[in-house]
Amino acid sequence: MIDLHCHILPGIDDGAKDIEDSIEMAKHASSQGIRTIVATPHHRNGKYTNEKKDIEEKVSFLNKILIDKQIPVTILPGQESRIFGEMVEEYKNGKVLTLNNTHKYLFVEFPSSQVPRYTEQLLFNLQSEGLTPIIVHPERNSRIMEEPDILYNLVNKGALTQVTASSLTGHFGKKIQKFSNKLIECNLTHFVASDAHNVTNRGFLMDQAFDAVEQEFGIDMVYLFQENAEAVIEAKMCFKEPPEKIKRKKILGIF
Ligand code: FE
Repeated sequence: MIDLHCHILPGIDDGAKDIEDSIEMAKHASSQGIRTIVATPHHRNGKYTNEKKDIEEKVSFLNKILIDKQIPVTILPGQESRIFGEMVEEYKNGKVLTLNNTHKYLFVEFPSSQVPRYTEQLLFNLQSEGLTPIIVHPERNSRIMEEPDILYNLVNKGALTQVTASSLTGHFGKKIQKFSNKLIECNLTHFVASDAHNVTNRGFLMDQAFDAVEQEFGIDMVYLFQENAEAVIEAKMCFKEPPEKIKRKKILGIF
């Protein structure tokens, strides 16, 4: 299994504090059948700045240790960049990093309670550079929960999205769990990833999340998510169905 979103690199954001934490996380991942992890430290989120070069160095450092310790998990470079006006320029300058450095898919994080006005234009500009933006955890954005058509519009214009495993398992509450299922039902999300920060309160839960997806939508949906994760790291096309709007009636059902 591949985990596309994880704060496993030591000492550079609010994920693993040190190498011991990173090793512990890798062991947990391995026990859930995760063999490949894309390390996606925060970038420009107001607290942490992690540019491509630093991430790549930390990734090779961690991979060496995991080989030494015989933990069968491979770390690939990635980044969770908060949306900012100069994203395209920073990508061209080699500071913004695509997932597995393939120059194809990249993570875009919104502030937790808003979607900036320039989002649509910026996502368009990224796509004009041949990049596919993946909006991370839209199910935890309060603006999108209020007005899911915002997300529908962005997906309709070519963005992909990733829901967090622990949202599907209910660890962020019933409301977020139901909304995550609506996103799947309406073809508004394309990946499930852990966004793990540690092994305690922000763990992996990928196995539990896929069990939940299987129960709710059947095993084919699980395969679809897993194959899409593989497509990302191999820079291939992802599978997507035309998005549908979440109906008002359904929204009222959520709250
Ligand atoms: Fe994250």
